[in-house]
Amino acid sequence: MTASTFSSVEQIVAAITAVREHPVLLLTDFDGTLCEFKDAPDAVILSPPRRLALSALAARPTWSVGIVSGRRAADVRQRAGLRGSAYYAGLHGMEIDGPDKQFQVPDLGALHDEIQRLGNALADATASFPGALLENKDLSVALHVRAASPRDRQHAERSFWTLARPMIEAGTLRLQRGECVFELLPNIAWDKGDAVRWIEADARHRHGAAAFPIYLGDDRTDEHAFDAVGDRGLTVVVGSRPSRAQYRLPDPAAIERLLTRLATPHAPH
Ligand SMILES: [Mg+2]
Repeated sequence: MTASTFSSVEQIVAAITAVREHPVLLLTDFDGTLCEFKDAPDAVILSPPRRLALSALAARPTWSVGIVSGRRAADVRQRAGLRGSAYYAGLHGMEIDGPDKQFQVPDLGALHDEIQRLGNALADATASFPGALLENKDLSVALHVRAASPRDRQHAERSFWTLARPMIEAGTLRLQRGECVFELLPNIAWDKGDAVRWIEADARHRHGAAAFPIYLGDDRTDEHAFDAVGDRGLTVVVGSRPSRAQYRLPDPAAIERLLTRLATPHAPH
């Protein structure tokens, strides 16, 4: 089952509350799913109602909560500001900070110096295009073009390609395209789906039973996570992009309504 039209929050709440026999593992993307996009990624922070709802769900003894993001794990932890323990998967799942355990894909830091050199060159080459922003995540670099005019976007993308192509063609870096963002990552075969499987295994160990997985996401990179969850759990895509998720909500405000309803099951609606 995939969602071609928008679902109602109540429909999703009903499907989740019908799950009684398992612990629940709620995993969500951050930008574009939990939080509205901003021109500067640095300006995004989880709003208090969403923080409260996620913290309340994380505090339930049979629930685990996690955020799976393209940001660094420490960055997303700080921007979420959740109370209690949760999973924070950064760099599209290549690093995971869990309640009792940490994970990093082998050799993640091996290209650090090359990525920094490329990042500096990319920052110089794209600095003259207003609205184009180069984000340095230490182990990856991302060009954001959300705030750029179509013409500046085209020029910035062309400069980016010229400098990045040799390392992509050599197989050392891979290009991850997102919503108005081009990111260069170490070319390691590991995605958000692998991160979901790692977290599920760890949560099974912590709860002593397999958890019912829920995944919320908006971007192409989240499709790997939707596939990892499949029909064993529940998946929700945010926005109108074609997706393999089971349910669809229009925007992060609808995700807020979903989280608030789940956290306060008897609230009027
Ligand atoms: Mg996103």
